[in-house]
Amino acid sequence: MKISNVNKTFGDKHVLHDISLDFPAAKTTVIVGPSGSGKSTILRSLNLLEVPESGRYGFDDLQLDFAKKITNKQKLALRKKTGMVFQDYNLFPNKTVLGNIIEGPTQVLKQSKAAATKTANELLAKVGLAQYGDSYPNQLSGGQAQRVAIARALAMNPEYILLDEPTSALDPELELEVLKVLLQLAREKQSMVIVTHNMIFARHVADKIIFLENGHVLFDGAPEQFFAPDNPNERIKSFIASMTMENLD
Ligand code: ADP
Ligand code: MG
Repeated sequence: MKISNVNKTFGDKHVLHDISLDFPAAKTTVIVGPSGSGKSTILRSLNLLEVPESGRYGFDDLQLDFAKKITNKQKLALRKKTGMVFQDYNLFPNKTVLGNIIEGPTQVLKQSKAAATKTANELLAKVGLAQYGDSYPNQLSGGQAQRVAIARALAMNPEYILLDEPTSALDPELELEVLKVLLQLAREKQSMVIVTHNMIFARHVADKIIFLENGHVLFDGAPEQFFAPDNPNERIKSFIASMTMENLD
């Protein structure tokens, strides 16, 4: 999956400046950067929740030119390949956990209810929530709800999972439950793009790190280089130091 020369504006605000990025398959790409740098806009563009004004988007044999009108058929094809997980889970409150997970597979993929339920139960076991199929979202902790959201994304069998600050709303212990699930998925070579502020996690999970500031890519490379104490980029060094509270006194 890759984008090239992407530009996006909101009103007169230019938020993505000629962005070109590769998101390798079977790898975890982590996007970091200060608030407002354009991280969510990139992730949302990959799922076509936002459509940039110009640039190209290539996904396997699917090629989109953002300057041209994107057809519904193209949109659907791309959304099948990408599953989105949001910071605030976005579960349907009036459906059980199982109901949430089988909704897409039965409605969109036209799977039988029995087949979708079987897969959903396997996915719930995988995220450590085998006993929770009949619970409702308001009976879950935030960490459990986010793991359900991850299972729901996986149930659609997308090629990539896109996660936008998946643990920003969680207490540290609940965050850890979710990060462990994502680390496991990374080990299984699930293709992922993750936006996070958690530098310890980023360092652990990333095959590749992208650092954004003001809609520009300041770094695109290996985590070892990004986190290296002798990283020559002072801005990146000071960002990492503030995120990890290295220089508290
Ligand atoms: P990040 O996820 O890195 O915090 P975003 O991609 O959400 O950054 O936002 C990038 C910039 O675009 C910010 O200045 C934000 O205010 C602006 N922005 C994002 N979405 C919208 C929108 N729907 N309308 C207007 N401005 C937006
Ligand atoms: Mg964001």
